[in-house]
Amino acid sequence: MNNKCKSCSSCGMPLENQEDFSLGNVHSEYCKYCTNENGQLLPFEQILLANANYFKESQGLTEQAANKMAHDLLKSQPAWKM
Ligand SMILES: [Zn+2]
Repeated sequence: MNNKCKSCSSCGMPLENQEDFSLGNVHSEYCKYCTNENGQLLPFEQILLANANYFKESQGLTEQAANKMAHDLLKSQPAWKM
C-alpha cells in the first residue's frame, strides 16, 4: 500500500484512479469535476452547485440542507480555506 492516497484539494473526492484526476494528470491537485477542459479550477459557486446537486440526489436532502453540506465540505478543503 502506498501512503500517498490523494484527494481533490477542492471537493475532497478521493483520487484513486488516473481518470479521477483533472485531465488524467496524476500530479494535479484537483479532480476532473472541479476543473475545466484546461485543467483550471472552476469558480467556487459552480463547484458548490455541483456538489449540492449531488448531495440532493444521492442523499435525498432538501436544497437548503444540501447547499449547507456542500458549503461546509468545500470550506474545509485547502483550495477554499481563507
Ligand atoms: Zn474535486
